[in-house]
Amino acid sequence: MKLFMAALLTETNTFSPLPTGRAGFFGERYHRADASREPPAWGNIALIEWRSMAEAHGIAVHESLCAQAQPGGITVRAIYEELRDTILADLYAAGPVDIVLLNLHGAMVAEGYEDCEGDLVARVRAITGPDTIIGVELDLHCSLTETLRAASNLIVIYKEYPHTDIADRARDLFDLALRAARREIRPVIAYRPLRMVNMWLTPFQPTRGLVDDMLAEEGREGILSLSFAHGFPWGDVPEVAAQMVAIADGDIAIAQAAAERYAQRIWAMREQTARHFDTVDAAIDAAYAADGTTVVAETSDNAGGGAPADCTAFLERMVARGIKDAAIAMFWDPIAVQFCFDAGEGARLQLRIGGKCGAMSGDPLDLLVTIHKLSDNHKQRGLSGGIAEVGRAAWVEHNGIHIILGSLRQQVFSPDMFEALGCTLADKRLVVVKSSQHFYAAFEPIAQQIRYAAAPIGIMREFAAIPLTRIATPWWPKTPDPWA
Ligand SMILES: [Zn+2]
Repeated sequence: MKLFMAALLTETNTFSPLPTGRAGFFGERYHRADASREPPAWGNIALIEWRSMAEAHGIAVHESLCAQAQPGGITVRAIYEELRDTILADLYAAGPVDIVLLNLHGAMVAEGYEDCEGDLVARVRAITGPDTIIGVELDLHCSLTETLRAASNLIVIYKEYPHTDIADRARDLFDLALRAARREIRPVIAYRPLRMVNMWLTPFQPTRGLVDDMLAEEGREGILSLSFAHGFPWGDVPEVAAQMVAIADGDIAIAQAAAERYAQRIWAMREQTARHFDTVDAAIDAAYAADGTTVVAETSDNAGGGAPADCTAFLERMVARGIKDAAIAMFWDPIAVQFCFDAGEGARLQLRIGGKCGAMSGDPLDLLVTIHKLSDNHKQRGLSGGIAEVGRAAWVEHNGIHIILGSLRQQVFSPDMFEALGCTLADKRLVVVKSSQHFYAAFEPIAQQIRYAAAPIGIMREFAAIPLTRIATPWWPKTPDPWA
């Protein structure tokens, strides 16, 4: 038996000013044919699992590229086509294969391609013919199009946000694909659109219970797999809204009934799962009203959602209010980092921070800072046990406010972002992280309270107000009952 596998991932915020091009995909994390033998980062986590499982079953592995760009704006057309055509050429060269497994994001938009994943998988199907089992693993912030659905035999989506289960879902997908290739099962898939645009956080009820029930139901009474595609609210594409996915063994009625049951449940819990965000000042007030360390997510400047990660809106209020014992990370500001390296550790200088990328960044801040620590190769623990590179980085301080600056655009995943540079957190009252939710798993143990805040600039957090133009149906929360 032969397996072909590849990984191509980015999440496109169509409102972001950042072009996603060659440097985004072809950096140090680009690998051709050997990403599964590298340490886990993000895109290769599934490839590592698939290679290990295939080798355990004596299946020959043909591995193509692993390319992953930090979420940003629309991908440059020629770059998408080059990556796609490399995968297709590798597949063609591999000859007939029994199984194709692809680790994709599901919300990638390129110039001329509103649905990169659908385009890629349809071309893969055209090469393999109808008998090859094609399985796709997706981030739950994905858009499921008819093109993608028609070309795939299996779609398995992360269940957890933060995404702590990338490897688990990769193993689920491999197992189903192998059984399907051996004709032990016959997967049939039901899709149920939800007409909802939201972000659901899986550590918290009632979403936690929903995910636990999905996991418990898999493998029972004809259900092979259940996935909840949350959608990505800042991708202005027709299939931006959430969908429920149910895969059954041979009986589409079983799949449809399960998808319907979960869809009804997600709709019924809409008011409990609707997101509400603190203003910046309310989050600061809450932190200093409480004991211990308060961690605040600056969700409106999350690089993982395509934001620049150099927005000054939160820091500007921290400085204006004169708060102490506070820390904030990470500003993507290679120029400020360069100035810090030029000045050296221990130096005091007037430093211009942030505000460099466009309207989502706000205005730059000019602060008198002390440079505490420099690192040539700063890292943090990332998703599902992977390592996330921050590049050259600096820890600076302005009047009791500790600021981390980095040179590779990245959201904050773990306290390493501060503490690997020596910036302690246990003695801080307020720790601000530019992230929406992936910070949660690693910060929860050290936080007395966790709050979610949004500034008036950056990624728009009022879902009802996102100016979506491509969606054809009404959607909640913009329309209170989109099914009426
Ligand atoms: Zn995601």
